[in-house]
Amino acid sequence: MIEINNTFINGGFVEKNNRSKFELINPATEKQYGELLCSSEDEVEHAINCASEAEIICSNLSIEDKKNILSQILDGISYRREELGEVISLEMGAPISLAKNAHIQMGIDHLTNTLNVLSSYKFETKENGFQIFKSPIGVVALITPWNWPLNQTLTKIASAIGAGCPIIIKPSEFCALSSRILAEIISESDLPDGAFNMVNGIGSNLGPIISQHKKIDMISFTGSTEVGISIQTLAAKTVKRVSLELGGKSAHIICDDVELLDAIPKAINQCFINSGQSCSAPTRLLIPKDKLNEVKKIAISHTKNIKTGNPLNENTNLGPVINSKQYKNIQSHIQSGIEDSLELIIGGIGRPDEHEKGYYVKPTIFLDVPNNHSLAQEEIFGPVLTVITYKDLDEAIDIANDSKYGLSSYISSNNEKTAYEIAKRIKAGQTIINKPSRGSVPAPFGGFKMSGNGREHGIYGLEDYLEVKAII
Ligand code: NAP
Ligand code: MG
Repeated sequence: MIEINNTFINGGFVEKNNRSKFELINPATEKQYGELLCSSEDEVEHAINCASEAEIICSNLSIEDKKNILSQILDGISYRREELGEVISLEMGAPISLAKNAHIQMGIDHLTNTLNVLSSYKFETKENGFQIFKSPIGVVALITPWNWPLNQTLTKIASAIGAGCPIIIKPSEFCALSSRILAEIISESDLPDGAFNMVNGIGSNLGPIISQHKKIDMISFTGSTEVGISIQTLAAKTVKRVSLELGGKSAHIICDDVELLDAIPKAINQCFINSGQSCSAPTRLLIPKDKLNEVKKIAISHTKNIKTGNPLNENTNLGPVINSKQYKNIQSHIQSGIEDSLELIIGGIGRPDEHEKGYYVKPTIFLDVPNNHSLAQEEIFGPVLTVITYKDLDEAIDIANDSKYGLSSYISSNNEKTAYEIAKRIKAGQTIINKPSRGSVPAPFGGFKMSGNGREHGIYGLEDYLEVKAII
């Protein structure tokens, strides 16, 4: 049984007896493979104090220093790429090819992207009658989930280091192994002691200490809207900056001029990748009403061939979902669609037949769902696609916008001008046009409405961690 200690404070891992333990379960087998030794509340306090003491040294790092540190971290991730892919596949069930390629690559891309930004970013500018100095906001707390672990941790870490902010990070305990490797890699860089601290443990215990702490100047959180609201509420007492990247229920508008045989399989894959556990997944597929039967046939024949199975098998398309809580939650969403007599065209409740164990969910599609049903409104976070029909593009845009969320959106169209005009009318932080993947790495990422505030990645991500000072 592996024991993992992810309490890293002031440049070293902290050994301590009698820590509370968190069982690490392999989602593909439901067997325990290890234990996370949780950080105590005192250790969180200590980590925050150490970060606070490192504030001046971090703010004095030159651009060259910061680029050097980010390059060292980038080299470390690249060097341990295979191992990181294997542990991410084990801990959150991502198919090994997805883990090694997409998961690790996204982390690498964020580091590279911030390095590029730092090469030309002007922290000091002269304006008409005054000067602007962009200074680091101070101590930042980063709280991240399990669904794209390295993507989420590294985009925040790269921006915080680029800005010159000391960090205290609480990654998800479901990703203890990859978080340990990340801390090891960062500890080998030239980042000063105290500039990077990691605590790991149950969010509802550690989170409130972080959210209310006077010495934390900013919190960057990725996760559920519910937890985001609780962080922001507690953080209000100290008027700290809170950057939230929350849930989504993104619409994908299929225009009537596209080749459905090409567009529908791509749209389904985009929704189901990572077993549907992506905040920006296009989970509402909006199609012209008169194409319903054609879409139904294509969707069934494509989805039948999606292989759900052992994440270590190179041919697996979908692994299990993260844990039993998420599995049950997804099942109850599917059940509600069945109880309300929605048209289930493939999938349904229970595991795929070939699995007796593991949090495997059948790739599931409901057809012609009213947009006010919970299947069209709630974030399910599993491989469940909701197909909705529209009569014209104005109605499609209304449906896309009829959501409490506004993280991403997607358009498939053969007319670039029309797609661009639709994009401008959708209330979401991104609109991805005719791309089968995640879009662009340097592009800002973040939500409208209850999908959050603030922007991550590249220059916008860096600026989230900076204060604007006017010198007159
Ligand atoms: P979550 O509860 O929002 O967890 C995200 C992170 O916040 C984890 O590190 C979590 O730690 C921590 N946390 C929990 N309670 C906290 C608190 N009171 N204060 C500060 N931090 C706290 O998400 P989840 O439970 O893993 O997943 C639940 C649902 O959230 C999913 O079904 C999905 O809809 C949504 N979700 C969205 C995203 C996204 O990228 N937008 C990512 C993950 C999940 P613990 O793990 O210890 O709770
Ligand atoms: Mg939670």
